[in-house]
Amino acid sequence: MDPRAISLVRTSFKAVAAVDGGPDKLTSSFYAFLFARNPEIRELFTATMTGQRERLVTAIAYVVDHLDDLEASLPFLEQLGRDHRKYGIVDRHYAAVGAALILALERFAGTELWTDEVAAAWDDAIAIIAGTMMNAANAETGPAAVGATVIEHVEVLQDVAIIRLQLDEPLKYAAGQYISVQVPSRPRMWRYLSPAIPANDAGQIEFHVRRVSGGWVSPAIVQRTEVGERWVVGSPLGSLGVAGAGGRNMLMVGSGTGLAPLRAQIMEMSARSQNPKVHLFMGGTYPCDLYDFDTMSDIARSNPWLTVVPVSENDTDPWWHDGGPVPALSRQLMPSPVGVLAASFGSWAERDVQIAGSPSMIAGTVDALVAGGTPHENIRHDPLI
Ligand SMILES: Cc1cc2nc3c(=O)[nH]c(=O)nc-3n(C[C@H](O)[C@H](O)[C@H](O)COP(=O)(O)OP(=O)(O)OC[C@H]3O[C@@H](n4cnc5c(N)ncnc54)[C@H](O)[C@@H]3O)c2cc1C
Repeated sequence: MDPRAISLVRTSFKAVAAVDGGPDKLTSSFYAFLFARNPEIRELFTATMTGQRERLVTAIAYVVDHLDDLEASLPFLEQLGRDHRKYGIVDRHYAAVGAALILALERFAGTELWTDEVAAAWDDAIAIIAGTMMNAANAETGPAAVGATVIEHVEVLQDVAIIRLQLDEPLKYAAGQYISVQVPSRPRMWRYLSPAIPANDAGQIEFHVRRVSGGWVSPAIVQRTEVGERWVVGSPLGSLGVAGAGGRNMLMVGSGTGLAPLRAQIMEMSARSQNPKVHLFMGGTYPCDLYDFDTMSDIARSNPWLTVVPVSENDTDPWWHDGGPVPALSRQLMPSPVGVLAASFGSWAERDVQIAGSPSMIAGTVDALVAGGTPHENIRHDPLI
């Protein structure tokens, strides 16, 4: 797309999103057009549509932001296309989605903003996005989704559980990627989770899940998962990944269950003889959130390229936590938000940086690191959706 068309797409989208209640109105209108014209597509979504609306706006915003760097965003769109096969999405659905989005944007942009040139720019953008997703989906020969059986469910904290599954067939994913998951008690409510171990030929996979208060799926996973139940996992997504043996040194900043994609990469690296240096800041709100510190420090003990710094915003556990912190940990703990502490060491300009955690933790860490002199282009994290 030429720079003027990209700018028109961005300005019109920002104008719609900036209106009071704009994102909500845009998504409601989009789904109304989509379902009215294509009733069969309604079947692909859950009855509640909870979370779906926010995710749609965030996903469009992400793609619009990256239109001038298509080289970098094409792999993301291709992964999204492969992953969308699990919904039963086929070529004609992409055309229907594109048409509904144009109608919704037109309705909220108003006649002054929605000129022929703006409409043409959006047509181009949607053709690129849909074309990339469709081509990737059609080229993929592997299954759209794989079944898995829960073999272990451990509640490591009141609000965090580790779930281990046996996949029906091994799944190829790069350590650091994430996967959409569907659990039996919440059909069609797919959620992204990051495997906490690298892919393996035995087809074992492990997730660390935190209960989000008021959430639809995570409380069910943490509190109600039973050994033997059947999950479904989709295609891998995301661009976080292990550096080559001769690659640049790395800074990793992870918080809570956000540690998972970093943990998987460190485990994969620990199986190699040569690695760049990795400095891992492992954070949590309370010391107990660092329940996995021993695993990381054991790896560091036998792998000199790895340094692990435990960080907690509070220096004592909350009253409702029934066990004490790991003894070795209490002596080393640094009290601070993890991103702020990592940035307090100065510029990390010489390192590739990966951040994983909640959207607010990621945003705060990026700001702190950039303010401390780390170039923005060195920092990677998953989309905030
Ligand atoms: C790339 C990626 C990887 C992820 N990996 C993991 C993982 O390994 N382990 C894990 O536990 N979760 C992970 N998540 C988050 C997970 O996908 C769900 O978003 C989360 O479990 C909440 O789902 P829910 O159905 O319970 O909440 P929903 O019903 O979807 O949301 C309920 C409300 O909670 C808010 N909310 C959603 N997530 C959070 C949050 N993290 N903090 C605060 N408020 C929130 C929503 O905005 C909404 O208002 C990942 C997310 C992404 C994008």
